[in-house]
Amino acid sequence: MTTEAVFNGRFSFEFFPPKTDKGTEKLRQVREQLATRNPDFFSVTYGAGGSTRDKTFSTVKEVKQAGYQVAPHLSFGGDDSDAVLELLTQYQQQGINRIVALRGDLPSGVGPQAHLVYASELVAFIKKHFGDAFHLEVACYPESHPDSANMDKDLEYFKQKVDAGADSAITQYFYNADAYFYYLERTQKLGIDIPIYAGIMPITNFASLQRFSNMCGAEIPRWIGKQLEAYGDDLESVKAFGLDVVTDLCETLLEGGAPGMHFYTMNQVEPTLSIWDNLGLNNVTPA
Ligand code: FAD
Repeated sequence: MTTEAVFNGRFSFEFFPPKTDKGTEKLRQVREQLATRNPDFFSVTYGAGGSTRDKTFSTVKEVKQAGYQVAPHLSFGGDDSDAVLELLTQYQQQGINRIVALRGDLPSGVGPQAHLVYASELVAFIKKHFGDAFHLEVACYPESHPDSANMDKDLEYFKQKVDAGADSAITQYFYNADAYFYYLERTQKLGIDIPIYAGIMPITNFASLQRFSNMCGAEIPRWIGKQLEAYGDDLESVKAFGLDVVTDLCETLLEGGAPGMHFYTMNQVEPTLSIWDNLGLNNVTPA
């Protein structure tokens, strides 16, 4: 797309809570630069097992106080109901009205005996205690969640989240647009009618993308992997190729009817901003 097109969809940028003062300062700058593109909201992840509870909270609070819409990610993460209730109450007091509700994963080193609470249970819990006070986002997996026995089961559990009260969903990242469109078809047949926003992961480093994709079950198509491999340490070529690939993916998704996109920014400005600017879109509907 060469001219600036009006975008009526929704788009959002995801951050993780920084661990250091330097990271916190950098994120402030990242946030301000990304804010110039008028996102509908920022979101802030929640570490496995609740490991970033305080950092997520302080990051969310700061983004909110800077005047932006922000959605904390949340899971039970080993906490009891009272602790989750307290955190949600604190978010409500901060004027937060959107939550990304997740099961999450176990932190490494924790045995399989530890109890994970399914996202559908968290959605039901929030609905029970807070009614419609929060817009509830959930995760979904066009290429199936790695723990799922099969796609049918995966969809069945996704539907449970929707039936429990989820208002919209954000996908795991993927590089195969057909997987997303096929997933939309399957969800429609099941009567799932909430918007499903495409999760977009910019490509900047092959080794870390491979590691991450192995963990979360996202496929790197062979032609992409082979090309990234061929670039080796030539990071500039990796980035340029990644930008082309992900821009094309976003164009295909939007042309095919995706209601919007959620960018996994990895707290970096340039990869996300380059894709956004390449698309030449002008967001007109910030929340
Ligand atoms: P669920 O929807 O509960 O599903 C987890 C698994 O259990 C799936 O295989 C599902 O099919 C199965 N399942 C669900 N219900 C049942 C049931 N009743 N019986 C049997 N099986 C069932 N991780 C983090 O740690 N922090 C984050 O901030 C974070 N943010 C994310 C944001 C997005 C948009 C996405 C897509 C993922 C995010 N993740 C995050 C990763 C996510 O936590 C993992 O993928 C996790 O393994 C599953 O979380 P979920 O909410 O999808 O779980």
